[in-house]
Amino acid sequence: MQYQTVLKKMKTELNDEVQYYLDVENDFLIFNQLLDKELEISFEGYQCLNCGEEKKIFRQGFCYECFYKSAAVGDWIMKPELSTAHEEIEDRDLDFEKKVQLQPHVVYLALSSNVKVGVTRKSQIPTRWIDQGASKAIEIVEVPNRYLAGITEVALKDYVSDKTSWQKMLKNEISDADLIEEREKLKAYIPEEAQEYFLANNGKITEINYPVLQYPTKIKTLNLEKAHVYSGKLKGVKGQYLLFEDNTVFNVRNNEGYRVIITVK
Ligand SMILES: [Zn+2]
Repeated sequence: MQYQTVLKKMKTELNDEVQYYLDVENDFLIFNQLLDKELEISFEGYQCLNCGEEKKIFRQGFCYECFYKSAAVGDWIMKPELSTAHEEIEDRDLDFEKKVQLQPHVVYLALSSNVKVGVTRKSQIPTRWIDQGASKAIEIVEVPNRYLAGITEVALKDYVSDKTSWQKMLKNEISDADLIEEREKLKAYIPEEAQEYFLANNGKITEINYPVLQYPTKIKTLNLEKAHVYSGKLKGVKGQYLLFEDNTVFNVRNNEGYRVIITVK
């Protein structure tokens, strides 16, 4: 069976095991059902997710021009502490920024290799954690806007990492840290403006299991632009990565905006 699509990140659903879906033309693929099957991915060109034109993809599925003019990729996305919509100050498009920034956000701890702190819109839980390949996660504060989440993350970064090793995550090398204990330790460092939002009664750990039959031992990243065609046996899906038997990994999200043909053999 052959499927055409412009790649977008996989959609997920948290069950006993994460379910992974990929939109393809007139259909969708469920990767959980394709484990142990031979897949071929071939690169057919680019299609910017914003303007739809066949232009080289720069970042996040957008061509260079769209990336720099779109309100959806302002600096406050990667650095929430730079959010200003709560003060009615515009970055690129105040209406859009208000819609995204002025909604509940969560600062959390996730365990994907080491413990890391992160920020997400509340509506993106548990999607965000799954996309990062976290095995466990716990919420710390739930605040009414992105700015408060950002300054909380910045304060906590002095005491816990905000980065994680994606290679270790893929190899399933995970520290055995206790998230409840870590959260207790960090409580004292939440900035004053966000203290009242500490989730005192929500110390629940979310556990996430991925459909993986075999983890890679060495990591070979598939560069589809260079390789043009790759084929291999699918052994698992974790985060936004497809994991193949020959240690090749393919980050679907990093290839957004690429037109591909996927053949299931
Ligand atoms: Zn574009």
